Amino acid sequence: MASVRPRRTIGSVSVLFQDKVDSPGGKVVGVAVATNVWQTYDYLWPPRLGAAKVGLRVRVPFGRGDRKSLGFVVESDRRGGGRQLKAVDELLDAEPQLDERLWELAGWISRYYLAPMGMVLAAMVPAAVGRHVRRSQTVAYLLEGPADWPRRLGPRQRRLLDSLHEARKQGIEPLDLEELLAHGEASRDTVRRLVQRNLVRLEDRPRTLEQLSEAVEADPFELNDDQKQVLSVIRQRLAGPFQVMLLHGVTASGKTEVYLRAIREVIAADRQAILLVPEIALATQTVQRLARRLPRVAVLHSGLTGAQRSFQYEQIRDGHATTVIGPRSAVFAPARNLGLIVVDEEQEGSYKQDTVPRYHARDVAIKRAAIEGVPVLLGSATPSLESLHNARQGRYELLRLPRRIRGLPLPKLHLSELRKEVTPGRVELIGKTLQRKLAETLDRGEQAILLMNRRGYASYVFCPSCNWQMGCENCSRPMVFHQAIRLAMCHYCQATAELPEVCPACGRKILLFGLGIQRIEAELARKFPQAAAARMDSDTMTSPKQFRRVFDGFAAGEVDILLGTQMVAKGLDFPKVTLVGVVSADTALAIPDFRAGERTFQLVVQVAGRAGRAERGGEVVVQTWHPSDPAIQFALRHDYDGFAEAELALRASAGMPPFVRLVRFITRHRSADRARRGGEILAEHLRGLFGGEADVKFIGPMQAGIFKVRGQFRFELNCHCRRPGRLQSALAGRMHELSKQVAAELIVDVDPVNLL
Ligand code: ADP
Ligand code: ZN
Ligand code: ZN
Repeated sequence: MASVRPRRTIGSVSVLFQDKVDSPGGKVVGVAVATNVWQTYDYLWPPRLGAAKVGLRVRVPFGRGDRKSLGFVVESDRRGGGRQLKAVDELLDAEPQLDERLWELAGWISRYYLAPMGMVLAAMVPAAVGRHVRRSQTVAYLLEGPADWPRRLGPRQRRLLDSLHEARKQGIEPLDLEELLAHGEASRDTVRRLVQRNLVRLEDRPRTLEQLSEAVEADPFELNDDQKQVLSVIRQRLAGPFQVMLLHGVTASGKTEVYLRAIREVIAADRQAILLVPEIALATQTVQRLARRLPRVAVLHSGLTGAQRSFQYEQIRDGHATTVIGPRSAVFAPARNLGLIVVDEEQEGSYKQDTVPRYHARDVAIKRAAIEGVPVLLGSATPSLESLHNARQGRYELLRLPRRIRGLPLPKLHLSELRKEVTPGRVELIGKTLQRKLAETLDRGEQAILLMNRRGYASYVFCPSCNWQMGCENCSRPMVFHQAIRLAMCHYCQATAELPEVCPACGRKILLFGLGIQRIEAELARKFPQAAAARMDSDTMTSPKQFRRVFDGFAAGEVDILLGTQMVAKGLDFPKVTLVGVVSADTALAIPDFRAGERTFQLVVQVAGRAGRAERGGEVVVQTWHPSDPAIQFALRHDYDGFAEAELALRASAGMPPFVRLVRFITRHRSADRARRGGEILAEHLRGLFGGEADVKFIGPMQAGIFKVRGQFRFELNCHCRRPGRLQSALAGRMHELSKQVAAELIVDVDPVNLL
């Protein structure tokens, strides 16, 4: 019969645990299960699994129905014999995947971000690692062109042949079988049938990743004096110890080139480097350029198959890859001989993960560098105010590239006030100034980039007379009108509603203000029928290959106007681009977030940086309904220092980051009442712990910015404090208990980026 006995937790309380298996004298291990629980569990370690070691991945029966769950051994020899416990099912590693230093990093992340250790570890080791690692890959060749395909083909067979044919037209052949299957929704059976029909040939060959090639292109130019000076400082720092450098370099000042040469020094010293870039920069030619000019670069991106991912992982771990380039999760790359971490565009919000563990890759990079005793280089044209503040406090070393390469001028920015520029009563997105400049650019045979920040053929519904805006009743988010269904829709809960005939607040005419890409595509086609436009947004760009196709088309001059979302704001380097249009600078301003001004400033400066990267110079048109907004005004003058000065003063007087740290708690439940009660219990508890401290302030509980999401009500409690360490260490051991008391789902976000 199963007995019930108390169990240890990470914190101070005991919880009850159902035991299942008799274990007379067997070995017992502590396991952190990769699920959202703030405690570890004891399991019996069957002798057939060999030696138990901390860090090994296992599968254990867990929760209701004993589902097989991923876990990590966190204690290899728990005391206490004769206990009745469930047993570890399966051992996934021969040796622990993480070395001591990464293990230490995991512990820090778990404590700092108040995230369960099992979830942290699962985020650090890709699931595919250790499984199907194959030294060879199967590739597929197309044997017959469409003309020779039999007429009777199953739909799956046809789709597969189409994919192969499409790839051949783009000069890509053969295709990796695994990738082909993943994209074509076809099975191995389908392929086998095509092979039998002599339409496709399969071949096994040793796995060679183009990115891990030894070949290195020569340097096309010498560094300029500014770059040399910065590099010489970095070179000194490379000798160690830990140090944070912040490289503030205007757009096209040659930052990437500096990263590249610094990384080369690291490689020359037989060490490895990690370069973090925002996900959307991964497919850009900047990254391709880096990969071509450094030997054995592992480029990690979301399009990798499990096998590719685990192959790269091993190449990094075993020291074959010299350099890792990737998005935020690349900060966990298992380089055992690390010499440098570079974080490009360190201000990017996408470095913050918005699911557990809610870590910020820039800050984790800094912590990792500290543990490894190596320098870390943060780079940006518009450093985050957090990083700037740290530099001013003397915690980071500030390096500058104040000029564009080859003495190129910064692009000239023009303000276009939409109120005066669009025809009243017509839905127009391209004002007179932008239209005129576009025409001139096209006449000169040059190229333009247009930035939009919304996708879809959709519009906001608002009243120009009284500023009323249509919102979702479930989620308190703006409703978006979709042409296709002729209804307004909420992107959070999918609720739909009819358009009101007149403004419900003042009775006057309402306006559909569309910021959709398709909408501007239509307007461009109408206004510039002779120009070729291409779109780049998350609807059209679902794989790195698609990125590359659009980039290549634009680079080759087949496309005149590239329009897109944030994706076009970063990392593009095309000499023929002389005009950039910001279709609406206001969408970022409209977000109720203390960083709205900072984001707007960054976005405008970043996208403006795409213009005039060669001798022809460049211009930028910034369309706005709020011409006097300071963020826009400073951006127009490229005045980062002025913006930072003004914004820091505001933050200081409002008691906001970077002068305080935020910890955001959310309680979530189907019942609004339960969610509120949870918030109240939490607040009471926390105020009890920290109430007396002048340094710690709690605000709330109150309705969250987005009150209801997918049927769940949300309350938030915000903690402002000078030194979050006290709060974190006090909470680390209490999270399990706390989440039980709250009796609603409890979310903790340390250093939140998204405040909605
Ligand atoms: P950033 O990262 O600051 O935007 P990049 O390193 O991408 O700048 O450089 C911008 C462009 O200038 C790139 O096309 C790059 O090849 C080129 N470039 C960089 N450094 C030099 C240099 N010293 N001389 C000439 N061209 C350079
Ligand atoms: Zn909704
Ligand atoms: Zn109105």
